[in-house]
Amino acid sequence: MKREELLGIRYKKSENFSEWFSEVVEKCGLADIRYPVQGFIVHRPWSFFVIRKIIQAFEEELEKRGHEVALFPLVIPEENLVKEEEHTGFKPQVFFITEAGERKLSRRLALRPTSETAIYPMFSLWIQSYTDLPLKIYQSVTVYRYEHVTRPFIRGREFIFIEAHDAFREHEDALKQIREDMEISREVITNKLAIPFIYFKRPHWDKFKGAEDTYAADTIMPDGRSLQIASTHDLGQRFSKAFDIKFVDRNGEWKYVWQTCYGPGVWRIFAALVSIHGDDKGLIYPFEFSPIQVVIIPIFYSEDEKEKVLRKCSNIARKLKEFRVKIDDSEKTPGEKFNHWEMLGVPFRLEIGINEVDGNFVTVFRRDNFSKIKVEDDKLVESILALSKEMLENLRRRAEEVFRSMISEAHSKEELLKLMNEKRGFIRVNFCNEEECARKLKEETNGLEVKGTLADKVEEPSGKCVWCGKKAKAVVYLAKSY
Ligand SMILES: [Zn+2]
Repeated sequence: MKREELLGIRYKKSENFSEWFSEVVEKCGLADIRYPVQGFIVHRPWSFFVIRKIIQAFEEELEKRGHEVALFPLVIPEENLVKEEEHTGFKPQVFFITEAGERKLSRRLALRPTSETAIYPMFSLWIQSYTDLPLKIYQSVTVYRYEHVTRPFIRGREFIFIEAHDAFREHEDALKQIREDMEISREVITNKLAIPFIYFKRPHWDKFKGAEDTYAADTIMPDGRSLQIASTHDLGQRFSKAFDIKFVDRNGEWKYVWQTCYGPGVWRIFAALVSIHGDDKGLIYPFEFSPIQVVIIPIFYSEDEKEKVLRKCSNIARKLKEFRVKIDDSEKTPGEKFNHWEMLGVPFRLEIGINEVDGNFVTVFRRDNFSKIKVEDDKLVESILALSKEMLENLRRRAEEVFRSMISEAHSKEELLKLMNEKRGFIRVNFCNEEECARKLKEETNGLEVKGTLADKVEEPSGKCVWCGKKAKAVVYLAKSY
């Protein structure tokens, strides 16, 4: 086997997505899973730079819409964690601190699995009057859940998360916030990262523990399984009643606040970015998010050429100083360098040899479609900016095409079973909307779940439930999920 093959990605994304993903995580230096505690990974620079950019993109959108940043403690006293009855359902997934030094603690402290029960006791102290509302805060943190099966960036015992927690005077304001949360998801996930998704209203048996209603954004991974990448919840007055969060309204009357919480799943958005845009060569990072946006590869065959070529490389790097640029002047061959930076998903490669020196141009290679064009030195900056927009558009078009092809419709049980095995993705069906039918469906199909109804559109059901044959009460989308 050639050295280049050993260094590159061996698995094909379309043939064996799972192995492809693991190999990309390892060879592209995204995560090190050898950290000696299961489900806790080391985020390496080539992932964390991008993850931090994704966090910043969300923070910007949240702040634009009136959220303020805060940071609440990691530990939650057990009595608070279990105050809201349904939320108690989180308990089997919670890590507890029981000792400190030599002493046993008098009460158990939970590591936040999510922070409602850390934040809302403070809300009850902060909110007294209608003038204190709305209250909109967020934090970007790690959360902890005792998961059994773990996968880097998809399911972990420690993962990165943004959570926004809002309180309002009226239910109407809370519902408006839910729509705003969906807009934020659209702005970052679709517009900036070119990842397609659908917002579903989850069925009542699959809500966030403690929510009145849950709306979740699901994308489809290359193996046809759905991945939840963001969710927003109408908490109604459940938590405000449990934590006594009240305000005096204009007429002097005490009322409970209405609440929402929103969580873009930063980790999983990164997993979707890697998986959906990547190809058999490895990663493809969008320009705005890539740790290195332009890599310059000098190509020379003599000492004389070397000097001229390297001088031009430095000049070009200076010209491009508004971007994140690297000159790869290591001792690897140009071919090895090409493969390396292609695998890492750097959006643009500039090839500079003696022809480029003599002709006052550079050869620009685009990672997404492997095209090469010659660009005059003086037009390079504007050209890179224009090409980066085209590249994002191309990634979006490609991803959306695949996404659309992964949505199908089944009119009978037989059709459903066939689609489930052949196409996977989302399958649209008429459904009775009963929990028991959903449970049987999942059991008998080895994991096909009701993801919900469309969040932004009412679809009228017709005829019978595709699974049990009773009268259909909703049009739902089914998928196997992560
Ligand atoms: Zn049914």
